[in-house]
Amino acid sequence: MSLHYLVTGGAGYIGSHLVLALVEAEHRVTVLDDFSTGHRWATDGHEVIEVDIRDLAALRSALLHRHFDGVFHFAAKSLVGESAQKPLLYYQNNVSGTANLLEVALESGWGHCVFSSTAAVYGSPQARVIAEEHPVNPVNVYGETKLAMEQMLSAVHKQGAMQAVCLRYFNAAGAAPDAHRGEWHEPETHLIPNILRKAAGEDRALTIFGDDYDTPDGTCIRDYIHVLDLAQAHLKAMTMLHREGGFHTLNLGSEAGYSVREILEACETTVGRPITHEIGPRRRGDPARLVADASRAGQILDWRATRSLGEIIESAWLWEQERQNLQAR
Ligand code: UDP
Repeated sequence: MSLHYLVTGGAGYIGSHLVLALVEAEHRVTVLDDFSTGHRWATDGHEVIEVDIRDLAALRSALLHRHFDGVFHFAAKSLVGESAQKPLLYYQNNVSGTANLLEVALESGWGHCVFSSTAAVYGSPQARVIAEEHPVNPVNVYGETKLAMEQMLSAVHKQGAMQAVCLRYFNAAGAAPDAHRGEWHEPETHLIPNILRKAAGEDRALTIFGDDYDTPDGTCIRDYIHVLDLAQAHLKAMTMLHREGGFHTLNLGSEAGYSVREILEACETTVGRPITHEIGPRRRGDPARLVADASRAGQILDWRATRSLGEIIESAWLWEQERQNLQAR
C-alpha cells in the first residue's frame, strides 16, 4: 500500500537515503528541511517544504492539517564538537524544534514517528557490547539533546497521542552512489569520509586520534553500519508501528567492531594505495570501544545489518569520487 510520509531532515545524509528507500517501496514523500546542512540536489523530484523547525508559526502554516501517514524525524544538529561550543543552538534546534514538530503533529493527527537517535545517549560504555538496557548517560551536549528528544516522544506516547520508535544508530557509513547519494558534511568529522577525502587528494591532514587505547592495536573500536541497512530498519520500524503501535528504543548496528587502524587498512585496500596519515592525541570524549547489541531490533523488526565493511567502504569510495567531481564544478 502506498502511504505518504513526512521526512524532516530529508536533505541530509541518512534522511536522503531513507527517501530513496521510501520511493523504492512506492511511498509518497514530502521532505522538510531548512538546508542549513542538507543538500538541495538530494531532494530532487520530491515535494520540499523549506522551513526551520525552531519557527513554530512557519511550521504550522506549512503543515497544519495536512495528512501524513507518519513522520521520520531526522532534522537535528549532529556535531559533537559544535554542540559543546553552541549548546543553546543544539537545545533550540533539537529539543525545541522537536517540541514544535510534535505540537503540529498532534494538532494535525499524525500518530506515528520514527526518530533518528544515537548511541551517544549511552555515554561512556560500561559493557563490551551495548544493549538498550545499558544506562543512558550522555557525555556531550549532542547526546543530551537526543536523549531529551527520546524522552519527549515517550511522554507524548504516554499521553496516548503518538506511536514511536527511537532508533539509536551506531556509526552510519557508506553510500548509494548509483543513486547519487552519499555523505557530505562541511566540516567533515567522521572517520571514513575523512580517510577517503585524503585518498582522493584533498589537501588536508588525516589524524588517527590516539593509538594508546586499551584495544588490540591501541586505536578505538566502532560498529559501522551501512546507511542503506539503516534506511531499511526505518521502513520496517514504521511498518511495525502501523501494525502494533507502542514506544520502542532500538539499537541499530552491525554488532561487529573495527578499529580505526583496521578501517584505514580496509580503505587502503579499496583505494589500492597507502593513505598518508599521522598519529595524534586522543579526541576528548571518545570511548575505546562502542559496539551494538542489536538483537532487539532483530526480534521486533526482523531486521539485521546485511552489508559488510567492504561494501560500506567501496560504496563510500565510489561516492567520494562523484562528490569530488560535484565539488569541482
Ligand atoms: N577518528 C579518527 N580520525 C578522524 C575521525 C575519527 O581517528 O579524522 C576516530 C575517532 O576518534 C573514533 C572513530 O574514528 O574513534 C570514529 O569516529 P567518528 O567521528 O567517525 O564517529 P563517532 O564514533 O565519533 O560517532
